[in-house]
Amino acid sequence: MKKTLICLLLALMLPCLSLADRGTVTIIEGEEKSAPELPLAGYKIGIDPGHQLHGDNSREPVAPGSSETKAKVATGTSGVYTHKAEHETNLEIALLLRDLLVDMGAEVLMTRETADVNISNVERATMMNEWGADAVVRLHCNGSTDHSVHGMGMYVRKTGEKAEESEALARCLLSAMTARTGAKAQGVYKRDTYSGLTWSQVPSVLVEMGYMTNPDEDRKLNDPDYQVLIVLGIADGLTEYLTHR
Ligand SMILES: [Zn+2]
Repeated sequence: MKKTLICLLLALMLPCLSLADRGTVTIIEGEEKSAPELPLAGYKIGIDPGHQLHGDNSREPVAPGSSETKAKVATGTSGVYTHKAEHETNLEIALLLRDLLVDMGAEVLMTRETADVNISNVERATMMNEWGADAVVRLHCNGSTDHSVHGMGMYVRKTGEKAEESEALARCLLSAMTARTGAKAQGVYKRDTYSGLTWSQVPSVLVEMGYMTNPDEDRKLNDPDYQVLIVLGIADGLTEYLTHR
């Protein structure tokens, strides 16, 4: 809208301007293009839509140098109301988030943009390390045998590289996401047992967006309007963390 107005004004003004003035107008127009007021311009944000079409039960170390191992990619949960697989919901929301962050000026790298891939959690973390992400959000939905449990929770590494930064990012995300959606804030949990976090060398948060085992939250997580609120919350949290550090 702003760009259209500027073009319209320029079209109206140009006939009245001298050549020198036209030069000035061109520079102003150039500045408008090269330095737009985009809040996330210059930031590299990684998005990892959790899981994939098929889990991979072969093993990889829980942390660099650890003898303890875990599955490369778990299957994930599924919706008790929608009957959707978690990997589908995660990807839907991730694609919305990608588009919003790009519109806000960020450079975005996705670990996957389709379901039928096989990328382990260590590989996902390594991808972001090599790319040099300023922040990584790993999108997941939670599951519980207790179907009354609902709410959003953030998981970060407890110790090691970028642990403090990751916790700061998690607090920004939890506060912004629950403000936008009205979801219950469960908290920020520190664990050194998630390979996608312990292999990360950049600020990285595993975002549990809600419980697909809770019928109401499952319905919301798969509702396009609610998905927009989720990505707006994530964008708010990322902007707060990246620009107010
Ligand atoms: Zn998950």
